[in-house]
Amino acid sequence: MKSLLLTFVSMLTVVTSQSFPTELWPITSDMVTTSQNVINTLLPSSGVTMDSSMVWQRVAYITDTFGPRLSGSQGLENALDYIRDTARNVDGLTVTEMPTLVPKWVRGNEWGILLSPRVKKLHMVGLGMTANTSGVNITAPVFVVSGYDDLMANCSKAAGNILVINTPFTEYGITVSIRVNAGNWGLQCGAKAVLIRTVGPYSMQNPHTGATNASSPIPSAAISLEDASQLARMQARGQTPIVSIYMESWWYPPSPSRNLLIDLVGTERPNEYVLVSGHGDSWDIAEGAMDDLGGAVSSWEAVRTLKNLGVKPKRTIRAVVWVNEENGSAGGLQYLNDYNSTGVLANHSFVFETDSGAFYPMGIGLSCSCGPNGCQNGGCGFTQAQLTLIGNTLLSSIGTGNVSAGGGGTDIDPSCQTGVPCIGLNVIDPRLTPGLNNPCLVDSMNSWYLPPYNPSTMYDSNYFWFHHSEADTMERLDPTQLNTVAASLAIWAYSVAQLPDLLPRDAPAPPTSPSNNNGSPSSTAGPVAGGVIGGIILLAGLFFGYKWFGKRTSTFSMSNTTSTSPSKFSGSSTSSAAYSSLSTRLHEDNNGGV
Ligand SMILES: [Zn+2]
Repeated sequence: MKSLLLTFVSMLTVVTSQSFPTELWPITSDMVTTSQNVINTLLPSSGVTMDSSMVWQRVAYITDTFGPRLSGSQGLENALDYIRDTARNVDGLTVTEMPTLVPKWVRGNEWGILLSPRVKKLHMVGLGMTANTSGVNITAPVFVVSGYDDLMANCSKAAGNILVINTPFTEYGITVSIRVNAGNWGLQCGAKAVLIRTVGPYSMQNPHTGATNASSPIPSAAISLEDASQLARMQARGQTPIVSIYMESWWYPPSPSRNLLIDLVGTERPNEYVLVSGHGDSWDIAEGAMDDLGGAVSSWEAVRTLKNLGVKPKRTIRAVVWVNEENGSAGGLQYLNDYNSTGVLANHSFVFETDSGAFYPMGIGLSCSCGPNGCQNGGCGFTQAQLTLIGNTLLSSIGTGNVSAGGGGTDIDPSCQTGVPCIGLNVIDPRLTPGLNNPCLVDSMNSWYLPPYNPSTMYDSNYFWFHHSEADTMERLDPTQLNTVAASLAIWAYSVAQLPDLLPRDAPAPPTSPSNNNGSPSSTAGPVAGGVIGGIILLAGLFFGYKWFGKRTSTFSMSNTTSTSPSKFSGSSTSSAAYSSLSTRLHEDNNGGV
């Protein structure tokens, strides 16, 4: 039924989008002025510190005060109350609560102990929504496999044992399938329980939780990379490790919660929207500063900043704090449910999510013409060209204007299926940028580097060291990066809110550039989408980003750290030899290097 509805909506979208502009819409002087004012406000030449960044202050307050925010928890509801009241009463923004029922799974006590060949506490965390151990210890020899194929080849050996799946991290999208399927794979082979090597490229004994398939009746947990490797070594040399695990958890009826919609209401077309967002919930063991309160509060800050600048957007600029991204996507599905049938979603110019860490942004990834079966390649013609023009003209000065193909987010994906242009923020691994969250800065580096960014090599991003673990704390965020995310979101949102019409959903690239590009300081993008132009803009963005970083490094606040000094940031020239060394360490070491 749902897919039929979506198909109908997609067809309707195609029908209504046949009339499209024949040339790009110009960048107006108003967009230029507002963009510069946003940059001057959020990224002043005096620099950004923890004290001066409202995003940093609010993320720190919320994580410090309310803690982890798993769906169904009081911590989440308290945090949402605070955001609602502050946005409404302090910021003067329009806040709507969208009621959403969320699943409620609660973790209790849990532990894992190695009993033989010696006694040791395992670094273990139950996977999200896993079965429990029914109030008893499960004690058994472990049987270690390297992955699914190894398990299927040796399925009978897992029977009656605790199965350990020791698969090294490659890409999150690939390795995460082990976390999702662990319980059912163990069940298939008769295991009593399953322990997986934590889904992350690097570990300091911090296991990561995350959603698993709740249908399996046998419990599953993650153990640290170090513990999994150790059990594998023991088995390889002929030892038979014996492990005991105990896990409590409870399911409750679905719990009332809400998405928060924080609006700067449009003056000419208040019922048309541009949407930026992040999710407010987190896993129960994580304070979730990085995943994803930084993204949610940066979105909020984008709207707050525009309001404080006194601008009057034509369309409503909306920041959404989604709920239940981590274990159900109820918030994203609620938005689709409430706004698709009423036609509101058809009045969205784009939907945008930041959920890869609010690190230094290098641009956006765009998907278009999406339906229930995914997105159609080549459907982004006009929209990609228009956004490329905006990025090149208004965002290149801070190095964040690149537009590439392919983007989205768990919370916006349901809405994307109706065909609305769908955007994810692309960010740079913190190890490659000068921030307080760069763990490499305590290394022997005497300068920093902004190397050629290649997304295909970034799957072992620093992000996955921390996410869904106790290590997802404020130390993962940097105030300059947070403010740059907020500035980028504000500029993307405002400039799209001012366009003559909604971004087309299925239009080819126009044959000509805008004929009246008044106010544009550097209009060179033209109508060509992606490809060579995108690459040029990326390089330009990185160049300007480099220049921008260089300008600000001398004003970096180091007030919270004693392990680095401003001189560590002050290198203004790159060293290809040093970068080559860094790159090798980062990308060839399967454990994530440094
Ligand atoms: Zn997230």
